[in-house]
Amino acid sequence: MTRRGLLGAAPLAAVAGAGAGGYTAGQGCAPVTPAVSVYPDDPRYQELTVGYNQRWVGSPDYVRLVSSTDQVVRAVQEAVDRGKRLSVVSGGHCLAPFVFNSDVDVVIDLSGLNGVAFDPRRQAFAVEGGARLANVYETLFKKWGVTVPGGMCPTVGIGGHTTGGGYGFLSRQFGAVIDHLEAVEVVVVDRSGTARAVVAGRDPADPHHDLWWASAGGGGGNFGVVTRFWFRTPGTSGTDPGRLLVRPPKDVLLSAVGIPWSALDEAKFTRLVANWGAWYEQHAAPTSPARVLSGVASLAHRSAQNVFLLTQVDATAPGARPKNFPVDVALVADPKATLAALAERLGPGRPVERRAAEPYGDTMMDLFAAELARRAPEGLVVFDEALTSSPALVRHLPPRLPGSYFLTRGGSLGVGIPGAIGIKLARPEAEVVAFTGDGGSMYTIQALWTAVRYGVAARFVICDNRRYQLLDDNLEQYWRERGVASHPHPEGFDLSHPEIDFVRLAKGLGVPAVKVAKPAQVEPAVARMLAEPGPFLVDLVTT
Ligand SMILES: Cc1cc2nc3c(=O)[nH]c(=O)nc-3n(C[C@H](O)[C@H](O)[C@H](O)COP(=O)(O)OP(=O)(O)OC[C@H]3O[C@@H](n4cnc5c(N)ncnc54)[C@H](O)[C@@H]3O)c2cc1C
Repeated sequence: MTRRGLLGAAPLAAVAGAGAGGYTAGQGCAPVTPAVSVYPDDPRYQELTVGYNQRWVGSPDYVRLVSSTDQVVRAVQEAVDRGKRLSVVSGGHCLAPFVFNSDVDVVIDLSGLNGVAFDPRRQAFAVEGGARLANVYETLFKKWGVTVPGGMCPTVGIGGHTTGGGYGFLSRQFGAVIDHLEAVEVVVVDRSGTARAVVAGRDPADPHHDLWWASAGGGGGNFGVVTRFWFRTPGTSGTDPGRLLVRPPKDVLLSAVGIPWSALDEAKFTRLVANWGAWYEQHAAPTSPARVLSGVASLAHRSAQNVFLLTQVDATAPGARPKNFPVDVALVADPKATLAALAERLGPGRPVERRAAEPYGDTMMDLFAAELARRAPEGLVVFDEALTSSPALVRHLPPRLPGSYFLTRGGSLGVGIPGAIGIKLARPEAEVVAFTGDGGSMYTIQALWTAVRYGVAARFVICDNRRYQLLDDNLEQYWRERGVASHPHPEGFDLSHPEIDFVRLAKGLGVPAVKVAKPAQVEPAVARMLAEPGPFLVDLVTT
């Protein structure tokens, strides 16, 4: 017999009777609206027959949207009477095809049954079976300062989450969600084929205690439709709701570390996972001071690029903030104005000493950058869009002073030439040199004309390797990470024929220029570039 069969057609023996253990199936805590049936020709049907895992798509006769226990009872009864197989959906985050599959005739959608309230009669928090975690957390916390130690995805439903156990960052400290489950209201089908709601409690004397036990982690949809959960932390008492469930830490620290798959081989991956697991194993005791720290290792598929390690710690726990200092004055202010005022108070900074140039590499870029470092005035501003030539550039001209090194934002190509013009306009006294690629420069080469027209004496160095080399490199890395053998690159990456004559191009736009293709040409070219009264371009052949 399948789970659905058990729920939808077969009689359930152990759950007959209601109202035992002091509980009765009661009124809802969210507004009730008439139930709605959505059939295949309804525009809502498609949306309502697929969940988080879009691999599973249902094809039921209809989806019944409910907002009260009575409506669930009626929906279940109707399905049983017609011999229809039914399933139930709360938040729709089931990763398996338990809800949406071709065997299911009727889906009962609980998303409208989503109230969260304190039930004074039961001295417990009532959460209806279709509430989402975000709503549960927010209501419990904002109204009473309490929580349940559930998972971190806000759109997971309490229905599947609790009936599956439910754990999250606070679980090492406070247990699973079901550890706080006081009672459940469940719509079941008895021996006679009659659907009805019963309440089952944690108290072992409750005649339906076994149904409570089964609902507390026994898996969603196995024993009935849970229309309501009541939560109260065991051992609590009194009438103050704020003391009847656990209270979350006042503050937490979160850390998210992404490790690229490209940085991991089998040995490193094994060590990472083993160390992670070993730490939690060593600190697993319920009394461990480390129970305030919890984490998730998200070992996503290589296509996600990274493995993620997420960690949360109670910020108020001793030692959680070893490097932080108490704040005496909190400011809300405009960052630019505030930082300027602070900088003024601090006085002039101590510039980092200019580093002795590293021994020349033998690339043209090394020679050129080293020569520029030797001759350039203090305060040289570099716009670095050199991309694949950038490592050689910063070897000799490392960023040392604030405002002396600019990069393309977000990886956009073609910003080197106009970027340098902008900087020079803003700071006419500075020596400004842009390094750009041959491919990148072609996006905005016409800006040279603008430099001449407005008398902007910026310098431009085209790192000319006759290819979109960055794309070559990226493609190779992409293939390597996926175990794909290298093969010819797209023809469009090649810029060598016809060869772009940057000197003539620059001259055509009014900018004097030289080509540097041999080491001996480097020194005079750098000297001339720095001596030019107006804009100047160097076509630096780097291959
Ligand atoms: C992105 C994501 C993040 C997650 N993070 C966590 C996490 O941090 N911690 C954790 O513990 N789990 C986590 N989970 C797992 C999640 O708790 C389970 O998938 C859970 O079953 C989802 O519940 P749901 O109500 O959203 O799903 P649904 O698809 O609606 O239901 C799941 C199962 O429960 C049944 N069910 C739903 N409601 C009821 C009800 N009221 N009565 C009876 N049966 C019902 C359904 O029939 C189905 O079999 C995560 C899942 C996803 C997809």
